[in-house]
Amino acid sequence: MRKYVIMGVQGSGKGTHSQLLARDLDLVHISVGDIFRWNVQRHTKLGALVRRIMASGELVGDDLVESVVGDRLAQHDWNYGFIIDGFPRTVRQAEFFLESYDIDGVIHLHLPDSEVRRRVLARRLCAGCGMDYNLIDNTPTVEGRCDVCGGELIRREDDTPHALEVRLREYHEKTNPVLDIFRRKEYVITVDTRPDKEQVQQAIRDKLGISSTGLKTTKSQDETR
Ligand SMILES: [Zn+2]
Repeated sequence: MRKYVIMGVQGSGKGTHSQLLARDLDLVHISVGDIFRWNVQRHTKLGALVRRIMASGELVGDDLVESVVGDRLAQHDWNYGFIIDGFPRTVRQAEFFLESYDIDGVIHLHLPDSEVRRRVLARRLCAGCGMDYNLIDNTPTVEGRCDVCGGELIRREDDTPHALEVRLREYHEKTNPVLDIFRRKEYVITVDTRPDKEQVQQAIRDKLGISSTGLKTTKSQDETR
């Protein structure tokens, strides 16, 4: 059983690296952002609330986030463990989490603010099918059009320069104290996410002590128990 938290500013590749680890270690990837987006898209009551908060560039409050995470973890579908993304974002959420779960590591993806701006402002989303693009290394064949469905590529509502500055400021103000709490427990590994995806993923595994051979061994040991 492995329980990881992955932290990093928006655009640092948290989603990508969580999915790669989840796939190879059989972890359940819990993305708080995805849970909220799912609710927004389906116009649930929670979705309407989240939409209002995100449109103003603020972060969703502690109570709401804790209840969403608590409900998700209570499903107990994570036999080999989980990797949680988008939580905890505040000192209070971190304390709540540490009281409730033993964690094995905190993966801190480090990306300078200038690089965050470049990456986030290049993101596009298909208005038709929801496919993600970015104008740096995943450009559509026809400018402004989705390769899959021909839909219009748009920015997410919360990807404006102003909303991004607000998020960056809040991110640093709130996240640094959270990292300090985890650092005191010696849970944190920090990886620079500017190199390419494969190098970053390898660096994460090296620092967590997961080797590609060790990975299979660990898994088969688990299965024979
Ligand atoms: Zn599309």
